[in-house]
Amino acid sequence: MDLFNNSPLKILTFIFLLSLIPSNQLCANTGSDSTSYSISINKNNIKKAIVECIVKIEDSSLFMSSIGANQFPNRWANFIHELKATTPEGKPVELKSLDGAKWKVHVSDGSYVKLHYEVHLDHEEHEWSGGVDGAAYARKWGVFYTGRSVFIMSGKEKQHIKVRFYLPEIWKVSSPWRIIENQGNSYLIDNLTSLTDSMFFAGTHEEIILIRDDFQLIFALGGDEIVKQKESFSKMATGVLDYYIDLMEGVPNPSPDNKFSKSIVVINSSSKTDGEVIGNNISILLEKDGDEMSELIGRFIFAHEFFHLWSGKSFAPLNDDCEWFKEGFANYYTLKSLFHIGYLNKESYLKVLNDFFYQRYITDKGTGKLSMIDGALKHDHWGLIYSGGFFIGISQDMLIRSSTANQSSIDDVMRILFKKYGGTNEGYTLSELQKLMSEASGKDQTAFFNTYIQGVAKIPLDHYLNMGGFDAIEENGKLLVSLKKDAIPTEKQISDGLFGIK
Ligand SMILES: [Zn+2]
Repeated sequence: MDLFNNSPLKILTFIFLLSLIPSNQLCANTGSDSTSYSISINKNNIKKAIVECIVKIEDSSLFMSSIGANQFPNRWANFIHELKATTPEGKPVELKSLDGAKWKVHVSDGSYVKLHYEVHLDHEEHEWSGGVDGAAYARKWGVFYTGRSVFIMSGKEKQHIKVRFYLPEIWKVSSPWRIIENQGNSYLIDNLTSLTDSMFFAGTHEEIILIRDDFQLIFALGGDEIVKQKESFSKMATGVLDYYIDLMEGVPNPSPDNKFSKSIVVINSSSKTDGEVIGNNISILLEKDGDEMSELIGRFIFAHEFFHLWSGKSFAPLNDDCEWFKEGFANYYTLKSLFHIGYLNKESYLKVLNDFFYQRYITDKGTGKLSMIDGALKHDHWGLIYSGGFFIGISQDMLIRSSTANQSSIDDVMRILFKKYGGTNEGYTLSELQKLMSEASGKDQTAFFNTYIQGVAKIPLDHYLNMGGFDAIEENGKLLVSLKKDAIPTEKQISDGLFGIK
C-alpha cells in the first residue's frame, strides 16, 4: 500500500485499509499426535529456510494456509522448492502437486511422513495486494516469515505442534509462541490456527518485552532507524498497553478456542510504510529515513489493532450487525490512548476528528442512505461503519456522561462486555448493546438505535458534542468543534472524558 506521503488523511486511510485484511480461522480444538518442524537458516544464505517436519497424514493430503498469496495459482507453494516426502524410515513417498498449495500423498491415513523442503525468500520480487509485510521478507539483520508462508500441514485438529530453529550463532527468534525451556530455540504451538496466524522474526534485531499478569507483548525492532527509536516505541507500547488494561480492568481474556498469552509486533525499516494484522499479531514496515510521520503511523496502527485484543478477541459480536461498534469504538479508544500517551493534545485530537473521521463520514455515499448494521458494508463504506461507529460512541458517551453528571460513561459498557464475555465462547448482540447503553444513561435508547444505527439517518454529532462541554456545529461539510469557553465544572469533566482524561 503506497499511501503515506505526509498527510494525516493518508495515515488514517491506512487504518481503514488495514481493517480490510481478512482473518479467517481454522478450527482446532481436540487433537492428538504431535507434529514437529525444524527450520534451519544458514548465515551464508539467509534467503533460504530449510524445513524438515514429521506429520501424521489425514485425508491423504498436505496443504498450506488457504489465506493469501492469491496472485499465484499454486499460492504459497510458489516459494516452496525441493519438496520431498519419505516414510520415517526413509522410504520415498509419492506426492502429487495440486493447485492452491495442496498435495496428494500416497500413503494411508494415519501414517507418518517426513517432509523436507526449502522456502525461498523471494517474496519481495512479487506484488502483494496487502504488502509484503503480510508475507515474508529478508533484511540484512534477519528474516521475517508469516506462519502461512512456511508451514506445510496435514489434518485439522493437530495439537502441541513443535517448532525448532537452527540459526546463525548470534541470531535469536521473536515469536508469539510458547518457549520450551532448555531446548534451544524450541517452541510449542497449541493448534494449526495459532501456527498459520503467527509470524516470527529471526535475526540480530532488538526486542522489547512487556509483561502484565500472564500476558506478554513483544516488540521485535529491526533496522538502525527503528532500533534508535527503541526508547520511544517502548514508551508508546507501555503507555497504550497500560491505558487499555486500566480501562478494561484486565489483560486480554480471549475465548478458549483462541487462547493466546503473547502478541508480537514486528517493526522493521523498509522502503515504504505498510502494516498488516494476522491473528493476534501485527507486522509493520516503516519507511527508512521517513519523517515523524513514520513514527505516527506506527502508533495509529498499533493502537487500533491492539485494542482488538480486547474488543474483538476477548468479547466479540455474534453477528456482523455490530461491526460499527467493534471498529468504531476501536477508533474512539485509539484516539483516547494516543491522547493518554501525549501523542495527541486536545487541539490535534479535535482536528483529526474533523479532518479525517468526519470527512470520511460525511463524504461516504452510504451516509444517510444505508444502515450501519450491515457489517458487509465495512469494506466499501469505511466512513459509515468506522467513522459512523466512532460517532455513535461519542454520542452515547456524551449522553451517558451528561445524564449521570459524569458518574458513568461508555467505558462502563465496555467493561461490562469484557467481564461477561471475556474467556467464553459466547458473544453479544445488537439488542444487548442497546440495553446496556440504555441502562448506562438511564434513558431508553430504542429511538436512537432505530434512527441512527438500524435506521439510516445521519448522526447529529454536533448536538451530542454540545451536550458534553463543546461548542460544535456542522456546516458546509465540516465539523467545527472547540471546547466551550464558559463550561461549568461538570461540562469540563465530560469534555475531558472524550479525551480519555479521568
Ligand atoms: Zn479494526
